[in-house]
Amino acid sequence: MKYPTALEDLIECFSHLPSVGKKTAERYALYCLTHMDEADIVDFSNALIGITKDIHICTSCGNLAEGDLCDICKDSSRNHKQVLVVENVKDLFTIEKINSYRGVYHVLNGAISFSKGISINDLNIEPLIDRVKNKEIDEIILATNATLEGETTARYLKELLNTYPINITRIAHGLPVGGDLSYADEMTVLKAFEGRREY
Ligand SMILES: [Zn+2]
Repeated sequence: MKYPTALEDLIECFSHLPSVGKKTAERYALYCLTHMDEADIVDFSNALIGITKDIHICTSCGNLAEGDLCDICKDSSRNHKQVLVVENVKDLFTIEKINSYRGVYHVLNGAISFSKGISINDLNIEPLIDRVKNKEIDEIILATNATLEGETTARYLKELLNTYPINITRIAHGLPVGGDLSYADEMTVLKAFEGRREY
């Protein structure tokens, strides 16, 4: 016995979310049907449509943006000569939450992974090199995760950027080996950031 098609479709949509199995997807879909009124559902649908319509990728750093540039790249009070390189947008938000970093970012959209088949060409690396070539940059802070993939990526970037007259530093101190930046608490991230060293 199957649910009506519309409900099956919604279950299917929820089941695509990370960590959501078929049973949880079924529970979410039934919850929408029985506990949400029409206005809630319209708000929910509009929020989903909004992320495809209104959110872009910042042309400079790869962060989420509502126009060409993200709020951080547009902010002239930030230090545009200091660029912190993160694997993903979630890591950027983790660092922003500690409210202590005043430079700008570069989002790689992942890390080099031989097992997952992610190579340098899949990452947002070329625009980073362009930024280093064309803009006055003093320091690149490599804040990729303390995992095999994150370390491999940091090492690769270090080699790539070594030819330019910039300081390359790496946050590592305080972050556990195998640690994912976005799961570390704010104090650990702050310590990791303050304890960055020449790389
Ligand atoms: Zn940006």
